[in-house]
Amino acid sequence: MTELPDNYSGRILTGAFTPTLKKRTHSVIQDSNTFDKYNFPIMPYITAWNQEDNSIWFEFVGQQLIDLLDTNMAEVSQAFRDSIQNQRIFHYTDLSQSKVEEEIITQQQISRKRQGLRENVLRNKQVEAVYHMLLPSGKTIWLKDRGCVEHYPQDNITLTYGSLTDVSKEMEQKALLEQIGYFDDLTGLPKRIIMKKLFEVRIGERQRGYIDDFSVLMIDIDYFKSVNDTYGHQMGDFVLKELASQMLSLKRVEEDIGRYGGEEFYGISRGNIQSGVKFAERIRQSIKKHCFSCRGNDLYITISIGVASTNEMDEVSMDKLLALADKRLYQAKREGRDNVRGGLS
Ligand code: GH3
Ligand code: MG
Ligand code: MG
Repeated sequence: MTELPDNYSGRILTGAFTPTLKKRTHSVIQDSNTFDKYNFPIMPYITAWNQEDNSIWFEFVGQQLIDLLDTNMAEVSQAFRDSIQNQRIFHYTDLSQSKVEEEIITQQQISRKRQGLRENVLRNKQVEAVYHMLLPSGKTIWLKDRGCVEHYPQDNITLTYGSLTDVSKEMEQKALLEQIGYFDDLTGLPKRIIMKKLFEVRIGERQRGYIDDFSVLMIDIDYFKSVNDTYGHQMGDFVLKELASQMLSLKRVEEDIGRYGGEEFYGISRGNIQSGVKFAERIRQSIKKHCFSCRGNDLYITISIGVASTNEMDEVSMDKLLALADKRLYQAKREGRDNVRGGLS
């Protein structure tokens, strides 16, 4: 056996185990150590579980995790356990429909469920969980754990080697969405908050060069108040629902439609201002021809749209795009309604 890795505080390499297990452990430690030393944005670890006395320990923990928990090699195991506020695991409840269910295991439940969790890991031959951690600094983060599992029956040892990744942004966004709901009740369209997230994602993608320009549409029904006043609020609701489904059927895969609020909608499309205006015109012209038919009333409406695109500004921000699209919407209204206004129109 080659020499022990620096700072080794595991049990396998120095204990009475088979050469196969020792060799495997040694090689995984060395590779994990390399990852950790290069400061990869993942935190590698290796645990060993001895089924005979049901003990579990770290064979390797990277310095990154030790630093994060503000602890040392000897205490990292305890520090890790103490920091976990809750643990989430995700199950497929229905494989054919790919329905994923989240199980949240609170700190109090973890010790009671530990045995079952370990047996699950052994059965699935993998570890997949998200830990909600409270760090000694008082900061809260989410770490995603993914690991591979190998069982060594002769030694009665199960090795898990994997890595922890900070998924705080994703989990915070998920929590926010759960709190506010993704979709508008009346029309089934994504709400304004989703639009903002979508913009942030698109702005980020564009900054990193993954996508080119994109355009934002602010869509408003003309004289909608008179629909309510003439035909009643129910007819108004029907028009909003039907308009949403019409716009959805008109949009292409790379385009999105959402409800901004009231009788205002938004659209996003890939491409510069010209392609944004084309999308807007496609919607305007089709809606103008559509007959909204409900309870014996046949009704036609028109819409006005303001379009703004990232190719029109040096420094792109969500606020600037929305402000420009909004300004043009009001220009479209002032100039007679049933109109699209974009930079060049
Ligand atoms: P403009 O052409 O200038 O846009 O005129 P407008 O009448 O469409 O604009 P205004 O902002 O004055 O009126 C919007 C109306 O939309 C007022 C409100 O009652 C109605 N509205 C907003 N949300 C809903 C809704 O969820 N259901 C119904 N039925 N009406 C709604
Ligand atoms: Mg309005
Ligand atoms: Mg209106």
